[in-house]
Amino acid sequence: MELTGWVKNYEWGKIGINSAVAQLAMANDPDFNLNEEETYAEMWMGTHICGVSIVKETGETLDRVLKEDLPYLFKVLSINKALSIQVHPNKCEAERLHAERPELYKDPNHKPELAIALTPFLALVGFLPTEDIRDNIDEFQPLTKLIGKEAVDEIHEKPNAESLKLCYERLMKADDADVDKCIKEISKHYQKELKENELLDVFNKTSKEFPGDVGVLSIFFMNLVRLQPGQAIYLGANEIHAYLEGECIECMACSDNVIRAGLTPKFKDVDQLLESVIFEGAPAHRKIFVPYRIDDTMQVYSPPVNDFAVIHISIKHSTDTYKLRLEPFGSILLTLAGVRRLHLKTKDGPKEIILTRGSIVYIPIEAAPEIEFQPGEDCGDDFTAYIATFNYFKKA
Ligand SMILES: [Zn+2]
Repeated sequence: MELTGWVKNYEWGKIGINSAVAQLAMANDPDFNLNEEETYAEMWMGTHICGVSIVKETGETLDRVLKEDLPYLFKVLSINKALSIQVHPNKCEAERLHAERPELYKDPNHKPELAIALTPFLALVGFLPTEDIRDNIDEFQPLTKLIGKEAVDEIHEKPNAESLKLCYERLMKADDADVDKCIKEISKHYQKELKENELLDVFNKTSKEFPGDVGVLSIFFMNLVRLQPGQAIYLGANEIHAYLEGECIECMACSDNVIRAGLTPKFKDVDQLLESVIFEGAPAHRKIFVPYRIDDTMQVYSPPVNDFAVIHISIKHSTDTYKLRLEPFGSILLTLAGVRRLHLKTKDGPKEIILTRGSIVYIPIEAAPEIEFQPGEDCGDDFTAYIATFNYFKKA
């Protein structure tokens, strides 16, 4: 089944044709109406109630046709302006939060997520090693003032999870006027130090996008991670993060639960974030999630959860037919480049679908154990696609 994704116009998205989301939506659907003033932030592929994919042939929603929900939600993100500092609750917390405040926490599911960069990608991921946070607080004196002597003494005496928690709590609960003053002082007197720490660009970006927002100061507490295309990060339950800039493929458990605490005009649930977040410092290189290679064509990003895995395939345009082995689970394929003729089995018999940039295809369980990518009209480009599926690789 060929699908159309659901486009979300959040205000942090890239604008008009500059957005990969808009480009893919136009390539997918010739009738897509591009507005050059509009932001195109996300494209959702899956059965989540807030953005169900449509089956092209019949116009039905994918969940109606499947008569069940997929365990994962597959997305493309195109980020211009930073997304909020956030964590995602674990399953247990998600059930409780959804029961208590359904208007804020929309479903009872956990939301581990994986982001794979499509373009150079910038994100804040997890806390820095506590010693580095201590050094930042010392170097940027307005932070020392904001956090207060007690917490600063504590992180000097014992740079551990507890003192990190105390300092971060003092930061997040500081008075708005004091936060604003702290940001202004750093901006005025610490340009040289920001530059030396490679924080100047991100400080200027976040403080311009969110003036006076406490999230700006999170850059002194969190790892700044720069991903190249194909590199990935995995965010397990309650790992603090914020995406700042770039484009990525994202896959997650089928949920929209976000606990926000900064860099956002939306509701900040600071108390819940402080209760949930894991206070563990670790260096940035530990945050890169490495896929494993099956063969020259195929790589798998297999996170430590059952809900989803992502397969990346890159077929050289000179390659003849490529056969991909699949287990019997419903999968969604998104084509990024090149042309191939996809041959697969369906419950109505064998089928051929021409794949070009923007094609989204639901691969049914009947297609297992093998689908074929036959050469298409040669456009000179290698064929590149991502496939989201249930994480049957985890058993291996
Ligand atoms: Zn997230």
